[in-house]
Amino acid sequence: SEALALEGIEKTYNPGRANALTVLSGASFELAAGEVVALVAPSGAGKSTLLHIAGLLDSSDAGSVRIGGVDYTGLSDARRTAARREEVGFIYQFHHLLPEFSAVENVILPQLANAVPGAEARAHAMALMERVGVAGRANNRPAALSGGEQQRVAFCRALANKPRVLLADEPTGNLDPGTSDTVFSALMELVRETGLSALIATHNPALAARMDRTLRLEAGVLVSD
Ligand code: ADP
Ligand code: ADP
Repeated sequence: SEALALEGIEKTYNPGRANALTVLSGASFELAAGEVVALVAPSGAGKSTLLHIAGLLDSSDAGSVRIGGVDYTGLSDARRTAARREEVGFIYQFHHLLPEFSAVENVILPQLANAVPGAEARAHAMALMERVGVAGRANNRPAALSGGEQQRVAFCRALANKPRVLLADEPTGNLDPGTSDTVFSALMELVRETGLSALIATHNPALAARMDRTLRLEAGVLVSD
């Protein structure tokens, strides 16, 4: 079945102005349940824009976004925000963990926002952190962790609410090549074990080759390899 589908997505920044920039002009694709797809495009091609639209963070000028078969086009901001919280996990190049909370608290917090009881949220957070090898760092603040450990914690946070779809924008792009490789492997194991559907933007062909297939963003449309 289908986890995520984009149909005819169009997006122009500054429409009608001299600096208007059309980034997406009819982008379409389907992500099947359990599928892991690489999104490859040159810098500035619109990867972040596409991921933000797919994750209901941004709206498009035309086209539709379906998550789990539900079409969110034109639904209220409240419905879109609720869906984003329940259905989508985001990972960025930089971890964006909250600096004043411990690693495990960063993984617990999104669950509390979804009304998961505290003890259950903590147990689930610890189980996720165990799987990617950062359980021993649970009570440290992010600043005390290495870059690779910070990203692993960010993966756990993104998966904490058991999203249907994971959207990742260069998830290991700020790590040195050796670290990037092992941290990416940890992410892939976690994604495969949980049967998550994922769209992962990367510049790294070796990482793209480890996914099920590659989508290229070219001149505003998505082309399957
Ligand atoms: P990528 O992630 O592939 O680098 P982005 O989606 O971030 O690409 O940006 C695509 C293009 O749109 C870039 O030229 C960028 O400068 C421009 N852009 C992104 N966001 C905005 C915005 N809010 N307003 C105007 N232009 C934007
Ligand atoms: P990334 O490299 O992670 O895609 P960017 O530096 O391209 O991030 O963009 C960071 C933020 O700034 C995004 O929210 C994007 O929408 C916005 N942005 C990018 N380019 C522009 C632009 N030319 N004008 C206004 N906002 C922009």
